[in-house]
Amino acid sequence: MSGKNLSRRLLALIWVSFLLFYPFTDLSADDTPWQNLETKHTIIDYQSLKDLKTFNKKVVYYSARQSLKSLFSPSGSNSLTDRLKKKVDALYERVQEILDMRERMNKVIINISHDEKQLNATFYKLFKKKCSVRAYYIYEYNTIYINADDLNEGILAHEMAHAIIDHYFAVRPPEATAEILARYVDKHLLD
Ligand SMILES: [Zn+2]
Repeated sequence: MSGKNLSRRLLALIWVSFLLFYPFTDLSADDTPWQNLETKHTIIDYQSLKDLKTFNKKVVYYSARQSLKSLFSPSGSNSLTDRLKKKVDALYERVQEILDMRERMNKVIINISHDEKQLNATFYKLFKKKCSVRAYYIYEYNTIYINADDLNEGILAHEMAHAIIDHYFAVRPPEATAEILARYVDKHLLD
């Protein structure tokens, strides 16, 4: 057998094993870099514009302060990111208003997963246990974790409430108390 043939066979072998084993590698490991969009009250972390668009579509909230003029403004200031920033801040301020907790605090991070699988994987990485919720807030990272696939303004407002409640008092209130308050917020969002 010539050396040329041998290296060809070797190459074929490598190729076949690549084809065989590639499907078993962890395709869920997502190395896409994170980008962020900073608003007055939050920092939105996302991996793709598609996720950001889905997030914008699922969170439906119009504040009374957003006039018709600003909604239909033909100017360039009406881009997706501008509209999204206004909406997220308006929602945050509505949550502060319902809770009557208007203290200035560090910007809360909103981490957007594209699907349930990614949300659950992040949860598992943090807690080494299975995730059983649709969204969560972690005080230690001041971060809200949500899934763009399964989201609405109530879910986001609820997690924002957790962030605000946990930072408002000198001592964090008991979990059950915080949960009652956060549920009150998502129920009265549109009152
Ligand atoms: Zn809750």
